[in-house]
Amino acid sequence: MISPVNDLIIREVVSFVQNARESGAFRTRWREPLVAFADARDPHFGRLRQCVSPDHAMPQDLMPGADSVAAYFLPFERDIARSNRCSGHASDQWAVAYVETNALITSLNAHLTKILQVRGISTAEIPPTHNFDQDRLVSNWSHRHVAWIAGLGTFGVHRMLITEKGCCGRLGSLVISGECEPTARPGYEFCLHKHGRTCLACVQKCPSGALRVDSFDRRLCYSILLENARVHKEKGLADVCGKCLSTVPCSYTNPARRQALPHECCG
Ligand code: SF4
Ligand code: SF4
Repeated sequence: MISPVNDLIIREVVSFVQNARESGAFRTRWREPLVAFADARDPHFGRLRQCVSPDHAMPQDLMPGADSVAAYFLPFERDIARSNRCSGHASDQWAVAYVETNALITSLNAHLTKILQVRGISTAEIPPTHNFDQDRLVSNWSHRHVAWIAGLGTFGVHRMLITEKGCCGRLGSLVISGECEPTARPGYEFCLHKHGRTCLACVQKCPSGALRVDSFDRRLCYSILLENARVHKEKGLADVCGKCLSTVPCSYTNPARRQALPHECCG
């Protein structure tokens, strides 16, 4: 049976996003979130110092005595990815979704902290983004890798996490003092290419050539993100691109489990 803390966090994340949708305060529309949990002592956290950054924080660095980590994915409605399917700058909708979802994650984490504190559980909130080393362009808390440890999905060729609801959306995470039931990690790759099937749509869609099958030019990609941040500066900090995520087989679903959607082209 699911632990009461898991159950509480799942219910609160889902209802918070539902309320945000209905408030009329956001242009962005989200589908129902996914939530997963990791044991804060999972040995995979220690490995992030080799595979992400030597400075990657451990849950215990953020909260001494941390017991669990909750990770969640807020999937965008499909029209947001569709708006961003053609080459050129990131679409207005995509840039707004990024800025608004970051704000939503910050307020969602504050809400979870309040709800859990009432039950005697402490939290360490982590900002949704912009917590990375500007020289090396690596984060000291990778939400993507933390979400992988928590079993939310697997990595695609595009280096993003593919969940059961695809990759178009934003990830958040929260370190907590309460014991949660860890979520089982998927037993197979969600990415079609890694699953041994034909795809690489993400590589074909990358306009800069930063993304290749077996390499990723982080600096070239970041230069595109900064260009989009300049274009969309009136919306907030929208250092985005997402062409490799938009209207590819893993945009909205786990394509290795379900029939992949037809590939939508510009028109
Ligand atoms: S577009 Fe295809 S190859 Fe690229 S990450 Fe998605 S499933 Fe994998
Ligand atoms: S975010 Fe844009 S530039 Fe970066 S890999 Fe994806 S498509 Fe290429």
